[in-house]
Amino acid sequence: MKALTWHGKGDMRCETVPDPKIEDDRDVVIKVTACAICGSDLHLYGGYMPTMKSGDIVGHETMGEVVEVGRGASRLKVGDRVVVPFTICCGECRQCRWGNWSCCERTNPNGRMQAEQFGYPLAGLFGYSHITGGFAGGQAEYLRVPHADVGPLVVPPGLSDEQVLFLSDIFPTAYMAAENCDLKGGETVAIWGCGPVGVLAVKCALMLGAERVIAIDSVPERLALARQAGAETIDFGDENIQDRLMEMTAGQGPDAVIEAVGMESHGADTLAQKVSSAVMSATVSMERPFAFNQAVIACRPGGVVSMPGVYAGPVGPVMMGVLMNKGLTLKTGQTHMLRYMKPLLERIERGEIDPSFIISHRSTSLEDGPELYKLFQEKKDNCTKVVIRP
Ligand code: NAD
Ligand code: ZN
Ligand code: ZN
Repeated sequence: MKALTWHGKGDMRCETVPDPKIEDDRDVVIKVTACAICGSDLHLYGGYMPTMKSGDIVGHETMGEVVEVGRGASRLKVGDRVVVPFTICCGECRQCRWGNWSCCERTNPNGRMQAEQFGYPLAGLFGYSHITGGFAGGQAEYLRVPHADVGPLVVPPGLSDEQVLFLSDIFPTAYMAAENCDLKGGETVAIWGCGPVGVLAVKCALMLGAERVIAIDSVPERLALARQAGAETIDFGDENIQDRLMEMTAGQGPDAVIEAVGMESHGADTLAQKVSSAVMSATVSMERPFAFNQAVIACRPGGVVSMPGVYAGPVGPVMMGVLMNKGLTLKTGQTHMLRYMKPLLERIERGEIDPSFIISHRSTSLEDGPELYKLFQEKKDNCTKVVIRP
């Protein structure tokens, strides 16, 4: 089969690799009908994720048709149309029983090494390095889905692939990010990053009762998409984020802030200069978590900082003193997919939301993958989200 494979920083290739097959009773194999490139894939593309190996098959936003079923996965049958969550969950361990699905203790064969070397245990993930289990990803013609008796969501025929594909990751991620803001109704939420996650988080925050959402980025097309989703926007290329946010909230600051940027957070020097000088004149230098620190500085005292943005390993200085003294609540994590997939499918079925509005680029060939990765990373050609239907 054809698949997209990682070969180092900025080097994705479309290659011919062996077809996957059932390896365990609980597996199914699906024929992929649609897959997407995620902002998290850019961390692989940018060389930020440790323990990738040359030739690893990437991709974790995938759906398709079941073509083979292991004896222990009889919940599914050949021909079922399923969306596959990006985390692999056993359904039996303590964390799965508590609903902390992304912290599953049993599906990552390298979990012990991950905990010892990197400080955190995490569920197995598709196509996302060897510390998360080394599982082949779904930017491919076929995908082996381990623990298929637990994760995949069967979707009804009336909905198109594009309407349901993002249930595999970014729609639940945006929803959890908004839910973590503890909205009671009437709040102002500020969101850093107008990528797919940030823009869907605009919709979700409004759905959960926010009165205003202010979205921040520097890419004009992405800011326009956030406005289309219902946000007011700040272009940090032109404007001082802190000053604008204070103006827009009558000097209070937003009630909750969402950091939907992660490791590619950019704009270091200019941003650091622009951040209110009283805070910045402290001893901390801003190295990587720019967006995170900006969000912490902007949030009103007693507010919530929700961070779906992904970081691996220890990352640059965090404004712990500001976080602590303002009494902020920090909520973060890989998304607990199985809490959200079914209820969000129901929202799509009821016509409350159609997440496909974020798609800018469509292809029917994995051969286009390397070029599409480049466009998505460089945010060229209005590229906001890529979907491939192999
Ligand atoms: P993306 O890379 O397409 O979007 C990030 C956006 O942030 C870009 O538009 C970029 O211009 C903007 N940006 C960069 N620096 C900024 C700054 N300093 N201030 C404001 N905006 C800035 O990615 P995406 O697909 O939207 O994903 C966003 C983040 O969410 C990534 O870190 C991704 O890994 C993460 N994510 C997390 C989970 C989870 O389970 N927690 C799941 C999916 C994605
Ligand atoms: Zn993702
Ligand atoms: Zn588990």
